[in-house]
Amino acid sequence: MLNRKCFLLIFAAVIYLTSSVHAAEKRPNILFIFTDDHASHSISAYGSKINKTPNLDRIANEGMLFKNCFCTNSICGPSRAVIQTGKYSHINGFLTNGNKFDGKQQTFPKLLKKSGYETAVIGKWHLGEHMPPQGYSYSEVLIGQGPYYNPPMLRDENGNGDRNRINYTGYTTDIITDLALEWLKNSRDEEKPFMLMYQHKAPHREWAPGPDYLHMYDDVEIPEPPHLFDDYETRGRAAHEQDMSIAKTMTPRDLKLTPPPYLNEEQLKVWNAAYEPKNEAFRKLNLKGDDLIRWKYQRYIKDYLRCIASVDDNIGRVLEYLDESGLAENTIVIYSSDQGFYLGDHGWFDKRFMYEESYRQPLLVRWPNVVKAGSRDEHLVSNVDFAETFLDIAGVAVPDDMQGQSLVPLLKGEKPKDWRKSHYYHYYEFQNDRRTAHMVRRHYGVRTDRYKLIHFYNVDEWELFDLEADPLEMTNIYSEPQYQTLVKELKAETIRLQEELKVPDDTGSVDAFPPSIKLKQNQPRRNQKQQPKKKQ
Ligand code: CA
Repeated sequence: MLNRKCFLLIFAAVIYLTSSVHAAEKRPNILFIFTDDHASHSISAYGSKINKTPNLDRIANEGMLFKNCFCTNSICGPSRAVIQTGKYSHINGFLTNGNKFDGKQQTFPKLLKKSGYETAVIGKWHLGEHMPPQGYSYSEVLIGQGPYYNPPMLRDENGNGDRNRINYTGYTTDIITDLALEWLKNSRDEEKPFMLMYQHKAPHREWAPGPDYLHMYDDVEIPEPPHLFDDYETRGRAAHEQDMSIAKTMTPRDLKLTPPPYLNEEQLKVWNAAYEPKNEAFRKLNLKGDDLIRWKYQRYIKDYLRCIASVDDNIGRVLEYLDESGLAENTIVIYSSDQGFYLGDHGWFDKRFMYEESYRQPLLVRWPNVVKAGSRDEHLVSNVDFAETFLDIAGVAVPDDMQGQSLVPLLKGEKPKDWRKSHYYHYYEFQNDRRTAHMVRRHYGVRTDRYKLIHFYNVDEWELFDLEADPLEMTNIYSEPQYQTLVKELKAETIRLQEELKVPDDTGSVDAFPPSIKLKQNQPRRNQKQQPKKKQ
């Protein structure tokens, strides 16, 4: 009798272990490839007129390209916090780059890890060094922005918070890829499915190219955007008063008229051999006015695209490894960037504004046997949907307090009728009387498939654009009589979204949300009717 009981117990245990290993095998791996400030209009799959990105295009050709993915707050740290939490900035508490990320809160990697995933983040973290990344089996991250060459990195090998600083020599984009491949090949627990966040610093300012690409585009002229010389007529103070123009804001270091300080002797020699002759030719020209702006644009965009060339090559290395190792079949590959960027559009570099070029994020997803190769999706989607999507892919229940929607139905080619018809945006990094980076005024706004309404609430100025008639957003039609009904509707929609997303009431005041104020999580909006939670 005892023997029979023992046998049954062992038999049950074997069945349980076999089935859980089997279940773990079936759950797909998630490879999230992420860059910093990579605008969609510099990806050939998105129709770039200025460069080619064959490896990113490969993901698009073998998967789905999202044409309308938008961030909720177009700046580095806040976008990353939205992705970690699946919540808007006013809920996750990370409103500006000056905030500290509260790593103790619920994040999707924690939930995936708890459900049996091996989780890792390698590369740029940018949510503060005050605490190691939480919810990861392994992390190795740049310190702050991190330099383009010879980066020191912080490694937490067991995900227990003990970190070692390691100083690397070489080009950061290559190093981050080497580390990601090393983790995939030798460090992860192969019994478990994995979720790897492989995150580049590039192509963030100051756009320092790798040694192989210092001469790329030397003999070509990159086409200028049609609104390089925008004069902001019809738009408000925010566009006029920003400090992010190619004409006025770029420094000698941005323009490579002085070399970056982090190069070693050998790297500096190679760098100077590439840039000094070009700089000497520039000095001789003694350019002024528009000609000088045109030269600065060429120097900026070539360096930006050179950085992307290295990113694209390295993504190619990772895709090849997935093929060789047989991992490709059961690994979902996702490509995105924390937000877009101005590539001379409106005369600018940088991001922050809700205008299309920096508001739109690239989003490419390859999922063998699920996503139809070469498919395109036009639904309004957002970085606030990423956490929900990853959990859904892994079969983990999406917590009710997350504010986005899983993209899995869209990836399967479905067209849900109740999908969001409008998207809410809110940028915070501006304080009156204080100099803040790039001086872009706080604003919130709403975008539909055709229109965009923006409120710069510090100065109470509104802008409305018809994206179909005016895709470059050159003409503010807010005051035109024929649009007043539409203005009313979009204002009502903005209020509806603010209520649904629990945006606190003081949002519209001049000094709302100074970074020192800690927001109470899920604070109810004043006068808000208590309604059951609806998904956006
Ligand atoms: Ca960024």
